[in-house]
Amino acid sequence: MYVGRFAPTPSGRLHLGSLVALTGAYLRAKHAHGQCLLRIEDLDTPRCKPEYTAQMLRDLKALGFSFDGELKRQHTPAALARYAEILHTLQERGFTYYCTCTRASRRTQPCTCQSRHLTYTPAASLCFSAPSLDTAFDDELLGRQELDLANRSCTLLRSDRVIAYNLACVVDDHDSGVTEVVRGSDLLYETPIQNALYAALGWQAPHYVHLPLALKSPEHKYSKQNHAKAVLEELSPRQALLLSLRFLGQDLSALESAQSCPELLIRAAQSFDITRIPKCSGLISY
Ligand code: GLU
Repeated sequence: MYVGRFAPTPSGRLHLGSLVALTGAYLRAKHAHGQCLLRIEDLDTPRCKPEYTAQMLRDLKALGFSFDGELKRQHTPAALARYAEILHTLQERGFTYYCTCTRASRRTQPCTCQSRHLTYTPAASLCFSAPSLDTAFDDELLGRQELDLANRSCTLLRSDRVIAYNLACVVDDHDSGVTEVVRGSDLLYETPIQNALYAALGWQAPHYVHLPLALKSPEHKYSKQNHAKAVLEELSPRQALLLSLRFLGQDLSALESAQSCPELLIRAAQSFDITRIPKCSGLISY
């Protein structure tokens, strides 16, 4: 059984970039008669406010999406205990090292912390030392990817003691039985690192589809960092869905007469065709 998921970070309202990832992930799962799970990636509590999660859930409902299984939130005592357990496993297996670099220091000099075998200090983060790192993988849309990961490290536990994205993502996707991850291609370079985490834990990695990014301008994707507008402040739910489907290259001819968003999504799932999705990110405005 196909199990997919949408895993938004609730650091603001749903913007077009997330809607494209959501549309792709949801329709791919529904086209395969599979499940699409919803996971709220709210570990970064300074950025992720509960009111943003509530608003995100309202937006998803207004757009007509209905997810399978239980809603999963990452910032719960049970989930945090699970990440701590897996972190401990990785430490015990010798797959971690302490790192005292900052973002600014990494920009000017490569990190040498792994070879310095540092011990714990309150300002240190805990990073992943991959026993093997295969920088290539097959993407179901983009084909074979061979990435240059030079100087990329993988933080597991940030210096502010927040569990980092890659660890939580791998643990949750594994524990929820996710068979394929569909997300934006801004996360392409995280994929070999996540695959190395799966291998280090003896787990089976999922398949991947990395979708084109919706760009506001040649240099800027629609994202919270780029102050993208909330898509439902500008468009009706139906207009937003059609825009996202058009961006994903889907045939809209049988969709425009749908009476409601849920009906539109059912029809879009039936006709969903991954081969129509463009492989390159593209400009889009609304
Ligand atoms: N939480 C990430 C985001 O909102 C997505 C992570 C993923 O799909 O792996 O961009």
